[in-house]
Amino acid sequence: MNSDKKNSPIIVIDSKSGFCFGVSKAIQTAEAHLQQGTGLASLGDIVHNEEEIKRLQAEGLHSIDWAKLASSSSPKVLFRAHGEPPSSYEAIKASGKEVVDATCPVVLKLQQRIHKAWQEARATNGQIVIYGKKNHAEVIGLCGHTNNEAIVVQTSDDLQLVDPAKKTILFAQTTMSNHGLVEIEQLLRSHLYKTEDLTVHKTICAQVGNRVPHLKKFAQQHPLIIFVGGKKSSNGKVLYEVCRAANPQTYFVSAVEELQPAWFNAAPTSIGICGATSTPQWLMETVAENIRTLLTTRL
Ligand code: SF4
Repeated sequence: MNSDKKNSPIIVIDSKSGFCFGVSKAIQTAEAHLQQGTGLASLGDIVHNEEEIKRLQAEGLHSIDWAKLASSSSPKVLFRAHGEPPSSYEAIKASGKEVVDATCPVVLKLQQRIHKAWQEARATNGQIVIYGKKNHAEVIGLCGHTNNEAIVVQTSDDLQLVDPAKKTILFAQTTMSNHGLVEIEQLLRSHLYKTEDLTVHKTICAQVGNRVPHLKKFAQQHPLIIFVGGKKSSNGKVLYEVCRAANPQTYFVSAVEELQPAWFNAAPTSIGICGATSTPQWLMETVAENIRTLLTTRL
């Protein structure tokens, strides 16, 4: 907490914002391999934060997609925290490259649970439903562990894909909102012929779920909130909306250049800075530093 000058607002960085342990672990794994100097390619961006990607690129990490796999000079391919379907492990092996598996342990466990539930569902003519975003990497990975038979439900429109006569096992992508999961659960119960045919596994990651009530409070404690997150971060969008609902004076930035002087015209007594599970601590500190400079040059 800092009070820079008399009459300057206090700038507070939320102590609970920033990388979750799954993202931290993936980045530590990448950095450990980069230090060996053999080259490392990440299959997709390692974290949904453009600024952190730039930092890791400078250390030698580059992102590839499947089309660039063959031309990549790196002998190692990192699987990020989101995880991958079994077919990805087979494809990397077939390419002669080595997998560096940085799948988050929480996602890994979820993949195993979904796979087991899918095997049981097959034996009883049941079905697996995943509440999540259709093209999100984690969901693609999860579906792969059901031979792509799981039904992905993102909104009520997708319920038509669910057979109302079958026993149904519901899971959630780890970064969805608890509130959204409750809604989908209720909709599914009324969609199925027998409500007792639904089994729900509440698999939203505690690293995300616990941040929601905390951020609500944090956003209400400061007249102005600057939310720092990557433009592609699913978790960032959820948590930004939580802050904005609690405090309409909440602004989203993905880089310091996006800070707008007009946001500070109302001379708030304090400014809260917070972020997503993919937001690096150094970026929130840089944003705080830039706000201090901006306010100081105005005085
Ligand atoms: S949000 Fe949770 S599940 Fe997702 S990477 Fe972080 S710790 Fe793992």
